[in-house]
Amino acid sequence: MANLLELQNLKKYFATQKAVDDISFSIPRGSIFGLLGPNGAGKTTLLRMITGIFYPDSGQIIFNGKKFDPMLDPQNIGYMPEERGLYKKMKIGEQAVYLAQLKGLKASEATQRAKEWFGKFEMQSWWNKKVEDLSKGMSQKLQFVTTVMHHPSLIILDEPFSGLDPVNANLIKEEIFKLAENGSTIIFSTHRMEQVEEICRNIVLMNKGQKILDGTVQQVKNDFKDNIYELKGQLLAEHTLTSLFEVVSLNNGSLRLRLGQGTKPNDVLQYFINQQVEINSFHEVLPSLNDIFIKQVEGTANARQFQNIS
Ligand code: ATP
Repeated sequence: MANLLELQNLKKYFATQKAVDDISFSIPRGSIFGLLGPNGAGKTTLLRMITGIFYPDSGQIIFNGKKFDPMLDPQNIGYMPEERGLYKKMKIGEQAVYLAQLKGLKASEATQRAKEWFGKFEMQSWWNKKVEDLSKGMSQKLQFVTTVMHHPSLIILDEPFSGLDPVNANLIKEEIFKLAENGSTIIFSTHRMEQVEEICRNIVLMNKGQKILDGTVQQVKNDFKDNIYELKGQLLAEHTLTSLFEVVSLNNGSLRLRLGQGTKPNDVLQYFINQQVEINSFHEVLPSLNDIFIKQVEGTANARQFQNIS
């Protein structure tokens, strides 16, 4: 089975609010999958259906080749929601062990795994502290550990890097890659597009309850490319007087240009060679995910929110 998860025509309405409106897509096993969208797009509602917190109004979830069982399958899912849920007064070590036991581990196994993870993340000295004594970043690390400790086949991470310094963000990022290499499937939800470009292979973009993009990051970028190239070299403004391309920008010897109808990249190179320009580099520029997503949700109130946070 190539897909761990298949969502088929899922719908969830709240009164007249179409939070999730006929969404279908598949998540390949072992992939790191980005679920993206502006505020209110329906991501959390969708994740809550995948984790068995909400029942869909209609549609189906196929998990591991079978119809999703909301009683059993959540044991095989680790969910780190955006609103973190830890017991403030409980000691951290006990809490990690307790949460892993809720996911089906025996006490001895849970204790052993908690100690391993605490060692890996240099958290051993926190074992007897309470959550209320931890900083935001520290409790974030603890929440990550409690999400993955029981070796779930599906791991859902909602904004896992918020509040983390760059060193700790990197630590978690490396662990996400390792978990995927070892066969876990990861759904990653965030508004930070540069993180998605770096981490995810597949993405879905939602807006107003509907799916508006679905594919690999590379496919999506290729679909939206706009014939833009960048050339670096000993350039002067007069070198750009040609009908082969239009100038997008020219700063400090770096020229961004859009090829004209029928112009090939080699025509541009030949033009600059004929002009005796010394060329340092020449390459196609693919659009950033940020640009693509703003374009896709443009004109809506959501697009403006998205722009502000990204
Ligand atoms: P954000 O990025 O801001 O977290 P989101 O993509 O997760 O947004 P959802 O939280 O799923 O979006 O919300 C989708 C829509 O459904 C919103 O309009 C929201 O107000 C509405 N909604 C979500 N949960 C409920 C609920 N329990 N009752 C009524 N409306 C709800």
